[in-house]
Amino acid sequence: MKDTTQILTKSGFLDFLHCPTSFWLARRRPDLYVAPAPSEFDRLLMMDGYAVEAAARDMLGAGIDSEAFDFQFDFASDGCLARADAVRRLEDGRIEIYEIKSSTSANDHIQDAAFQRIVAERSGHRVAASFVVHVEKNYRLDGQLDPEAFLTITPVDEDIEQIRHDTETAIDRAMNTLAATDVDLDGCDCVYKSKAQRCSGFDQLNPEVPDPSVYDLPRMHGARLAALVDDGRLDIEDVVEEDVTASQLPVLRALRSGECIVDAKAIRKFLGELEFPLHFYDYETAGGAIPQAEGHGPHQQIPTQFSCHVVHEDGSTQHHEFLAHGHGQEAQLVEALKACVASSGSMIVWNETFEKACNRRMAALLPQHEEFLFSLNERTVDLMKPFKAHYVHPDFRGSTSIKRVLPVLCPELSYDEEAVHDGTGAILAFREMVESTSHEQVTELRRQLLGYCRLDTEAMVAIYRKLCDAVA
Ligand code: SF4
Repeated sequence: MKDTTQILTKSGFLDFLHCPTSFWLARRRPDLYVAPAPSEFDRLLMMDGYAVEAAARDMLGAGIDSEAFDFQFDFASDGCLARADAVRRLEDGRIEIYEIKSSTSANDHIQDAAFQRIVAERSGHRVAASFVVHVEKNYRLDGQLDPEAFLTITPVDEDIEQIRHDTETAIDRAMNTLAATDVDLDGCDCVYKSKAQRCSGFDQLNPEVPDPSVYDLPRMHGARLAALVDDGRLDIEDVVEEDVTASQLPVLRALRSGECIVDAKAIRKFLGELEFPLHFYDYETAGGAIPQAEGHGPHQQIPTQFSCHVVHEDGSTQHHEFLAHGHGQEAQLVEALKACVASSGSMIVWNETFEKACNRRMAALLPQHEEFLFSLNERTVDLMKPFKAHYVHPDFRGSTSIKRVLPVLCPELSYDEEAVHDGTGAILAFREMVESTSHEQVTELRRQLLGYCRLDTEAMVAIYRKLCDAVA
């Protein structure tokens, strides 16, 4: 039986291009490299991929030469394996290769297409043309999904020719790496990159990196990081104030002192600009490659639920919430929001970019509510801002994510890891709820979704109160 660790697949080749060392570790040293378990985001991408592929099959299979198409067609040659989503057999014996993607552009998929074409040709096929079938970003659902309007077929032959030589060379290097019994494991390139780019082998390959380190400073990358690495100053104790930017300085001070940095004057100013009643609000959205409701477009995140805690000047608080029963209920959501939002008072969110974009998208769908939704944006205040520079705890480790801030400031409030506990999980749960025919399952998913969204705004109220206490 062929040793599958010696076969170079398309995804393996992309892994090699990302990092030859982790590519080798994953296949040869599972003791050093733990492949990450598929995340909920991976699950979402996979579901979208299947849905778009089904739409593409409908489109390609509906033509007069539908018999000429084969789907999931394998090419194999000299240890390389490439699976094409669709292949069309031409009368002269040549083939066309179609790669189907749920993204809105062909640009990110040229490398995949080049690998496929080279392996197809090496296996003896004459390839007439290669295409990437992807989603048309300006498509808006109007009745039934129209695959012809929803999908775009982009020819990528010229792009492939431009990278053909480099791709062939890289395939040979990947095959050599695959066959190697050893590679240099003394450190690796990620010492010059931010934490987000590492694989699970980083700690074993770079045991000299202390904790805390320069990598705990936010936005630490490029020439500034390279200078510190080349100087051997990875320990946070070896970083001086001249090494960092003004926005990194409070984090450096917190990490070096082990103390929480509180700029009372700046926090008082932030709190003083808030206007009562305070509305702490948060949206959860649903959306994917395939639009599910009239007027929706691919990959548009349209709110399906909100939670809103209203805090009055006397400290009294009310909670309001809404959760749609299906896709396309944004009008009901906005009506429910209008019923709980006062005509004045700050609208407080965590990371304003997201909620403001949701309001703009809903305004485009619901022109009758445009004035209200735009007024929400004008009144929106981002509670995350003070945590960038004015309230910095060493245990935040340079992050301003509410998932990082909340357990440090309010450990009594926590997300239930067994239930919906992040935005991607909320999208998946909402989809499952809409598709479920089980009353019990729908009830349980509604409970989880409402609980998760409510906790987001409860968390903001609790964090706001901690800020008030810090400067009382
Ligand atoms: S930590 Fe980065 S450079 Fe090192 S093996 Fe992993 S991905 Fe490659």
